[in-house]
Amino acid sequence: MKTNISNDFLQTPEGVEANRILRSCVHCGFCNATCPTYQLLGDELDGPRGRIYLIKQTLEGKTPSRQTQLHLDRCLTCRNCESTCPSGVNYSQLLNIGRAVVNQKVPRSLPQRLLGFSLRKLFLSRPVFSLLLKSGQLFRPVLPAALKRAIPEKEAALSFSRKMHDRKVLLIPGCVQPALKPQIDNAAKIIFDRLNIECIEPETSRCCGSLSHHLNAEDEAITIIKNNIDNWLAIIEQQSIEAICMTASGCGVAIREYAQLLASDKDYADKARKISALYKEPAEIIANIIESDPQALHRLRENSCGEQSIAFHPPCTLQHGMQHKNLIEPILQKAGVTLLPFNDTHLCCGSAGTYSITQKDLSQQLLINKLSNIEKVKPEIIATANIGCHLHLQSGTETPVKHWLELLL
Ligand code: SF4
Ligand code: SF4
Repeated sequence: MKTNISNDFLQTPEGVEANRILRSCVHCGFCNATCPTYQLLGDELDGPRGRIYLIKQTLEGKTPSRQTQLHLDRCLTCRNCESTCPSGVNYSQLLNIGRAVVNQKVPRSLPQRLLGFSLRKLFLSRPVFSLLLKSGQLFRPVLPAALKRAIPEKEAALSFSRKMHDRKVLLIPGCVQPALKPQIDNAAKIIFDRLNIECIEPETSRCCGSLSHHLNAEDEAITIIKNNIDNWLAIIEQQSIEAICMTASGCGVAIREYAQLLASDKDYADKARKISALYKEPAEIIANIIESDPQALHRLRENSCGEQSIAFHPPCTLQHGMQHKNLIEPILQKAGVTLLPFNDTHLCCGSAGTYSITQKDLSQQLLINKLSNIEKVKPEIIATANIGCHLHLQSGTETPVKHWLELLL
């Protein structure tokens, strides 16, 4: 695509990158076919090609409107369009650049700013979040059904006694998952232990930075990311850590993008590259081990819930963001789990970070569509690999939702 980006912006690293990405798009529109918001709204400007065009116009000097901002806000950042695009357009990076420029030019309304501020304060403060969660869980029995399903029941953490192994991974707990679903990380520790890998956890852990990033608080996101990089590198240098892992693919993809986000930061570019290169999904490590060691597979099979039928929902961050397609499913099948295929597994469930709060109607419609496809195959359990999808799916169904690692316990 021909571009005519303003000279001032072309002098910046973001300008150079945006220009490169825009020029790689041939405007064919194939991406619209798999875009969930285009499917729901049928408006060119609510699909990837239209959003690319809106960003192009803004970077070429046209003043964006609140409507431009809304079309960009409605994007789930699910990256389904990147999986579909034959030209390899890096849409999500262009969207990050475009959103930042539009947000500078179109001030957010007071209610939007208040909502963003409250969400960041709530989710980034563990004591506040834990207190509210505990209060919600206490009153859960008397809450209306919809609200009840949105607040997970209090679950006891699985007991686990740490054993030393030569192989070590740095397991990052993240911000809200330890309070909401403490058993997920313990499931990872138990399974890694069966495979002779020790999980090391940082003493303090904060958000991966994606929450602030989603809520357009870029400076806050960069501060959090730099703190994480410094903390994690200190541990990695002290111990022989072979990989960084998280049990939420939404956070995993954010860590993979540290290198891209800090590429032009002279103090952090190299460090960020190292951290991103070390990130591995737990399934990548497990798949490698069971490929080469039949005994390891046997140990997984012994404990898996093979007799139950499972519908596995692959999060967008896993299948489109990290391009891990069909990574977890073969592990579950080899471990004896019965997987039920269902339609439209490539589409987002509507969770998408804080999207389920900021774009409630679209998010709910995507949830209804996803659950209707899943429920047609009548699974006993729905499994997934990201806390956001996990809670969002559970908020719309009585069928229990679990993290896939819990199926191997
Ligand atoms: S992003 Fe890719 S699929 Fe979409 S219009 Fe551009 S080249 Fe075509
Ligand atoms: S990221 Fe998802 S919602 Fe956004 S344009 Fe691409 S396919 Fe559509």
